[in-house]
Amino acid sequence: MTLHITKKLADKLKISPEVEPVGNELYSWRANYVQEHGFRFIVFMNDASRFTVVLNEVKAVKLKKLPELFICTLREALLSISVNPDVIDRYITDLGNIKYAKNSDRKRTAQLNKNIDNTWWALRSLTDDVDLSYYVNQMIYNTSGMDAVMIPAETMLDKLSVYGLPVRKCRALDLNVRLDLDGKDAVRKLRVPASMSFERLHALLQTAFGWQDYHLYSFGLFEEWSDNYYAIPDVELLLAADGDEASPDSIEMTGLKLSDYVPTYRKILYTYDFGDDWHHYIEVEDIIEDCDDGLPMLLSGYGDAPPENVGGPGGFADFLEIISDPAHKEYEHMLAWARSLWWKPFDFDNIARWIGGNKKLRNVVTANSVAVPEEKAPEKRSGLPDEAVRILNYMKSHPDRWGFVIADAPFDYCGACGSPARVCIDDNQAHEIGLLCDDCYNKVLSELTESKIPDIIPKQISVKGRGGKAYEFELEFFIFPNGMLLKATEMGKRKRRADVHGEPGDDFNVLLETLKQRIKKALSVTYIEKDAYIPGDTAVGYIEYNRERGDCDIYIDGYPFTWADLEKNISSREGWKVKIEFACADDELE
Ligand SMILES: [Zn+2]
Repeated sequence: MTLHITKKLADKLKISPEVEPVGNELYSWRANYVQEHGFRFIVFMNDASRFTVVLNEVKAVKLKKLPELFICTLREALLSISVNPDVIDRYITDLGNIKYAKNSDRKRTAQLNKNIDNTWWALRSLTDDVDLSYYVNQMIYNTSGMDAVMIPAETMLDKLSVYGLPVRKCRALDLNVRLDLDGKDAVRKLRVPASMSFERLHALLQTAFGWQDYHLYSFGLFEEWSDNYYAIPDVELLLAADGDEASPDSIEMTGLKLSDYVPTYRKILYTYDFGDDWHHYIEVEDIIEDCDDGLPMLLSGYGDAPPENVGGPGGFADFLEIISDPAHKEYEHMLAWARSLWWKPFDFDNIARWIGGNKKLRNVVTANSVAVPEEKAPEKRSGLPDEAVRILNYMKSHPDRWGFVIADAPFDYCGACGSPARVCIDDNQAHEIGLLCDDCYNKVLSELTESKIPDIIPKQISVKGRGGKAYEFELEFFIFPNGMLLKATEMGKRKRRADVHGEPGDDFNVLLETLKQRIKKALSVTYIEKDAYIPGDTAVGYIEYNRERGDCDIYIDGYPFTWADLEKNISSREGWKVKIEFACADDELE
């Protein structure tokens, strides 16, 4: 194999390879070394599939054994997506020895950088090499154009069919997972590879039950269930970060796989949220030696899972009672709360799609599922760029942990399309989630809020003022979580402004008409003279940041005034009373 390495990695390895042709892409890889924020990792990417191998915590001793480590982790990463071990052997034999080459391909470097971005993302919650690689290989990547997307794991499976052997083959486990809800249990039957790590099983269970990954969790392994589930399991697995909760005998779960404990232990207790204490009883029902299914997959299921923080099985029982009775006085409130958490009754197709795998083996049981009025189905849209999908997924899975700032001018580039960006999405704690241009931001919010982007949003409009003179206004349109904003700013030196806030579902053309009326009104009034003298007894304007001055201006009649300008005006009226009224941008001041 040829490994095209960046200068950074070449310097680390103390070699200076030459440029080599790519040859057969399946045996051509590239790699970069990243050392930032206390992290040191190497990301390897295959040229044919973008299949990625991550080596985390790379220290000098690891660098010395780089070829062996790469092959070893590659094997595990291929096993993690259920590749037939015979195919893996053939592929690794054909890779042969690593021949280092200088990385010189711009397009592939851009792809590698994208995979590194996703590795950063994965490093927020994972540390294990195989789990990190698995995560990056399941992401959706843009190839060319808006609709062309690929998933490295799928592409690699496809490419490995050249060996003429069944590409997927693994030992699989059928798990029956019962979430104990005091008689209203939710059950999901899952087929998973035996090589699955406990951390990935956690992620899978989160999806299967619609949890949001807000809380701590643990796995307890039993040979037999005890009568009392507070009994100490035979083996308890915890994450290192959960140290405070750990009993002295518990084991750090990072890197541990189901096959390390199954079939010795066929009963697993997954506890999620040590406040609400959701107990999921997992039983290994079957072991399939030569499984060729796309895994993991949902085999069947029934029963609704609770929304986060509903207050344990008792709180969930109350929730179900209210939500199944539209006449209940708390019905609307409860429904709105549940929707704000993206809670949905159990929907086999939806969960199966998120989990992936082969949907032919479906066996839907819908008993024990409450009827909740359907929300309008989101309109099918052409594929969003993968960065927009990533941001959307973050917003969906962390409904109360994101916010956004819209700057008055572009300050960087859109992560999704490369246009100038002025919207920054953050996690409400000053950690940036991503940057978007106005258009990509609206696309993401329209998916998130299931509201429609108007087909045509004029970039500017012309409104006639007194004497028939036309005034040009620039239009901006933003979808917000709770509505939308249409804003007009006069073009040229004078910057009169008007805006309209709409509710979700409002007709765009009606908003535009209201906006035009407000502009007309703005054009017809004069509150202040050019020397900042207010002849009447009222002036209405808006406060806006002035980049050049590094301070705020007050815009009245579309002209900027400093506070000092106004102060002169105010002091000339000694003995008068002053009333200053501040209002939100969406309140109309009269
Ligand atoms: Zn964009």
